[in-house]
Amino acid sequence: MKRFENKVVIITGAGSGLGQATALQLAAEGATLALVDLNEAGLKDTQAKIVEIEPNTETLLLTANVADEKAVEGYVQATVDKFGKIDGFFNNAGIEGKQNLTEDFGIEEFQKVISINLNGVFYGMRYVLKVMKEQGFGSIVNTASVGGIRGVGNQSGYAASKHGVVGLTRNSGIEYGQYGISIKAIAPGAIMTPMVEGSLRQIGGDNWEEVGKEFVKPNPMKRFGKPEEVGYLVAFLLSNQADFINGVVIPIDGGQSYK
Ligand code: NAD
Repeated sequence: MKRFENKVVIITGAGSGLGQATALQLAAEGATLALVDLNEAGLKDTQAKIVEIEPNTETLLLTANVADEKAVEGYVQATVDKFGKIDGFFNNAGIEGKQNLTEDFGIEEFQKVISINLNGVFYGMRYVLKVMKEQGFGSIVNTASVGGIRGVGNQSGYAASKHGVVGLTRNSGIEYGQYGISIKAIAPGAIMTPMVEGSLRQIGGDNWEEVGKEFVKPNPMKRFGKPEEVGYLVAFLLSNQADFINGVVIPIDGGQSYK
């Protein structure tokens, strides 16, 4: 039996990058999927790729802004209305934001990054946890970052938001373990997704791949991670095999965070 047969999983940021890769992995393992993203075209792209892998996958596409609390309540309710339960939640949508020294960091930019990366994750947990507590089971994986474990420089908004995600994970893991719910975070290093490609293009233009090669030199493995590598990890963490892993942050970064 496949690990996610008869399991319902919500994924935010499912229209691209890590969310899409995880959706494909879970579909291959039999999951029923509620896919959330601001970008409708991205969701359709993910759905088309799912059909190629596992045509029988049940999917619900939900266009929503995770920074809008009512929209979050809406995507959670829509999932329960359609599928009746939530087994897993990959709380992943996020943005990188512009880079700047802290003193020059735009206040609106700071608030924007916090509102998506931290408030959005909190809203998602708030509504999903109500459902999971009532059911008496469930697992949540929040996407933090290396920037949620240590400073990365020129990214005060991003680092503050991702440290916040780590705090939310640790705190709520302690609260909800007793209800049969496990909550963990992942801390990806540099994974080659459209987000990272966009940042490299901002720095290097058409030369972005060369910039990327320099960028990964300090990494012990001297390469970018692949989105599917994150998909494998998240699938494990959302599966019942990882039920006793709770309130912790798992790096997936080639060894960058703790070197
Ligand atoms: P991505 O840009 O490829 O995908 C992010 C997706 O989130 C996009 O489809 C986007 O439309 C969606 N999104 C953005 N804002 C949204 C909002 N307000 N509401 C709903 N959807 C929204 O990026 P990615 O690299 O896959 O990033 C996914 C997560 O992983 C983010 O939280 C990011 O901070 C984190 N992360 C990525 C890396 C990396 O190297 N790629 C490293 C560490 C952490």
